[in-house]
Amino acid sequence: MNQTPLILSTWRFGQIANRAGWAILSQGGNALDAAEAGCRAVEEDPSVTSVGFGGYPDAAGEVTLDALIMAAPHRCGAVACVRDYLPAISIARRVMEKTPHVLLVGPGAEAFAAAEGFPQRSLLTREAREAWQRWKQEHGGNIFDKHSGDNSLAQDAHDTIGVLALDVEGRIAGGCSTSGLPFKLPGRVGDSPLVGHGLYVDPEVGGAVGTGHGELIMRVCGTFLIVEEMRKGSSPTAAIKTALERINRQCRPNPRQQAAFIALRRDGEWSAGCLRKGFQVAVRSAKVDTLMEPPLVLMDGE
Ligand code: ASP
Repeated sequence: MNQTPLILSTWRFGQIANRAGWAILSQGGNALDAAEAGCRAVEEDPSVTSVGFGGYPDAAGEVTLDALIMAAPHRCGAVACVRDYLPAISIARRVMEKTPHVLLVGPGAEAFAAAEGFPQRSLLTREAREAWQRWKQEHGGNIFDKHSGDNSLAQDAHDTIGVLALDVEGRIAGGCSTSGLPFKLPGRVGDSPLVGHGLYVDPEVGGAVGTGHGELIMRVCGTFLIVEEMRKGSSPTAAIKTALERINRQCRPNPRQQAAFIALRRDGEWSAGCLRKGFQVAVRSAKVDTLMEPPLVLMDGE
């Protein structure tokens, strides 16, 4: 499974990311640009209701975005709980390139985006607003019982775009971007913008990106764990299995909660895995352009 260049992305809409990223990688461009372009393309697509423009809002009706970009422990940047500015992945990249910080949140991140020249715009589409209104009617706006993880709409609509890219020079970079769980408690931030939780990249080893219930992934430092397992010699599949088993054993996921990962080693070997069926990985290289089931489903048959 190892080819260079290569781009891997989460979920069906990962194909949108791969198309944008591949346009860069296939021309000899670098992995960081490809990861950013991939996330950006999905953020700008209003039909994707879990990322960027068109993402479902929080319980108060506000769309808030989380994103992280990473090429190495000394090259990463993130934003969380950002309203009214897009693309979150590009704001995260500016945090990395223009500040001594790693993570900016809320109004501070928005002020930074404005100062960097990102235009202010509403991220709430009519479709997303109507979905929020339906949710309020059906659930009386009661968010607290939703955090048991039994919110069926949340189950259907959450999904982060996560991208791992490997360029012709052998550089690895990753990006992830999400509007988080739909109708979340205002202020809630998941795994995605947190280094080592939603995404981790170490050029000495490789990278991993996660998606699914952030509350599961961020309890075990999911992507950091995977990269550390690969550092010790595990294959990408075995490393993902370790993280999924840890989540299953220690985080008590309910039967409807998903966690999924993609891992890419610096030699180009990669894998993907999830707690239960439903996750797909989009893969693109010079030889392959496909959407596939992950090689590992921890609880097959559920
Ligand atoms: N992990 C994201 C979050 O918890 C959502 C997802 O990937 O489905 O915010």
